[in-house]
Amino acid sequence: MLEIDNLTKTYADGLQALRGCSLTVPGAEVVAVIGPSGAGKSTFIRCINRLVTPTGGSIRLDGTEITALGERGLRGVRRHIGMIFQEYNLIERLTVMENVLAGRLGAVSFMQALLRRFPQADVDRAFELLARVGLEGYENSRADALSGGQRQRVGIARALMQEPRLLLVDEPTSSLDPKVARSILALICELASELGIPALINIHDVGLALRFARRVIGLSAGEIVFDGAPVEVDEAALSRIYGADDWRDAFRQEGEEDRHVAGEGMAS
Ligand code: ADP
Repeated sequence: MLEIDNLTKTYADGLQALRGCSLTVPGAEVVAVIGPSGAGKSTFIRCINRLVTPTGGSIRLDGTEITALGERGLRGVRRHIGMIFQEYNLIERLTVMENVLAGRLGAVSFMQALLRRFPQADVDRAFELLARVGLEGYENSRADALSGGQRQRVGIARALMQEPRLLLVDEPTSSLDPKVARSILALICELASELGIPALINIHDVGLALRFARRVIGLSAGEIVFDGAPVEVDEAALSRIYGADDWRDAFRQEGEEDRHVAGEGMAS
């Protein structure tokens, strides 16, 4: 369970990026965070694993207050927060298997990692996860030989390797074409549901958010101005989030015509 209460972030230059955001995600729920550029989506997601240090408020994951943790406690909590990035953040010259095993770096000792001696159970799990994300047979391929969609699948497997209690996903599809983007988002949602964990997905493409998320949070100028189901995201809600004149831009990437088509396959 993720409980965020009155979260604020003011950057050093005085910019108030978050102005009292509260959100409770009780269980295995996929929450899309939408809003215009600069609304605070990235800051919000990054405060949760303290890549950004909040100015005020509280963030609890399964009862642990994240904002109060010192370095050591923070490392322990981060180990259980899987992060999936827009640019995949893979180590390009390493193999797919090595990249996935990197998800265990918080758990194995530095010497083990240095010698690439991961426990057999970790290697077995990595094989399982690679099969689950559709990359069976790619274990020894170098990361830089893969397509964008395949790289993101590696990024997903690496995040799952952490045995996460929460998935934080930052613009996972911005670098992908629409068809691949749909299959990646479908995969992330399926996996969150299979693992029974919450996933927060920062996504600028409203069409995709409505199609896949079970709950949508709308951020505008650092405030949560909408919190509801995808079916409740109507013109009034979009105007509140994006401004009356600008919300149609949010559908630009996919086009409105196919925004309610559910369930995509995995091919990419
Ligand atoms: P979004 O993800 O919705 O585009 P961000 O969280 O990236 O929004 O940014 C929210 C606001 O905070 C923006 O005005 C942005 O310019 C500002 N901001 C983000 N990071 C920093 C930083 N490190 N220092 C100062 N301002 C920042």
